Amino acid sequence: MRADRVRVWVVLAAVLLLSGVAGGQQRRFVNLATGGTAGVYFPIGSALARIWTERVPGVQATAQSTGASVANIRLLQRGDVDVAMVQNDIAYYAFHGIEMFSRDPQTRLRGMAMLYPETIQIVTLRQKNIRSVADLAGKRVAVGAPGSGTEVNARQILRLYGIGYVQTRQIHELPRTVQADFLSFAEAADQLKDGVIDAAFITAGVPTAAVQDIAASRDLVLVPVPAADVARLRERYPYYTPVTIEANSYRGQTEPVPTVAVMAMLVTRSDLPEDLVYELTKAMWENLSTLQQAHARARDIRPETARAGMPITMHAGALRYYRERGIR
Ligand code: GLU
Repeated sequence: MRADRVRVWVVLAAVLLLSGVAGGQQRRFVNLATGGTAGVYFPIGSALARIWTERVPGVQATAQSTGASVANIRLLQRGDVDVAMVQNDIAYYAFHGIEMFSRDPQTRLRGMAMLYPETIQIVTLRQKNIRSVADLAGKRVAVGAPGSGTEVNARQILRLYGIGYVQTRQIHELPRTVQADFLSFAEAADQLKDGVIDAAFITAGVPTAAVQDIAASRDLVLVPVPAADVARLRERYPYYTPVTIEANSYRGQTEPVPTVAVMAMLVTRSDLPEDLVYELTKAMWENLSTLQQAHARARDIRPETARAGMPITMHAGALRYYRERGIR
């Protein structure tokens, strides 16, 4: 019977594939959680997944678009992904069980590498007349995707100025609030251009595609977080560091703008095999030019700073690699 014979072949092929005979060796799938497509995690993470697939024998890696930092740690926790890009402040909260992780400390979270600075960019348009964070009171503001680190930064910075969130339209009765919209960077850019929202928080490497998109067709304004306010913010949240968005980072932005930054980092889980994490770490550091081609910010990804300020325990596989190379 023909059908029977086909079935036998299908079963045989499946057995060969599963046993690894057909491919010559076992395939190890590695899922990497990134962020929205208009951010920086996504292009750099996609390049990293390509490096791993091409350079680590037996590994098939894919980068996944997500809501970013907080969502990524939850995906890791559930075992849906193996590696994730996250902000250092969020990794710290997760590992130590504080803020949004107070009920479920992520003790299996492990560090692989510190990556590059992510700048808190508070974006608006010239005609909105928003000159300071305090001016955001009463406005409609995109605060980041649900589960993003951006959203946490937005909440903490607004709180510094005594501003909270409401998600209703009764904004005019509550002057010390913003109407918060939980939007991805791409959605925020579209809605700012369309006049639906007044401003957007974007925590990402400069230049961020979503901000470039706004600047391409509108008069972009970046709202400053002045040094004195940064000092107050750091008293409560030490992971913020003062930075300047250099002039001409975006079209029409002729003045430097002071604000704060956090750090992007690569994390995994303690139960990933030491050898696998060693190979992934090694492949990344041996193929930096591929990351740099994916996004300019990857120029800040350097072996000398791979461990600088690592806020959680390092994975044993990554540690082995750094020790071998004498990186402290
Ligand atoms: N740091 C951002 C977040 O966790 C994501 C940045 C990006 O997508 O490049 O919300």
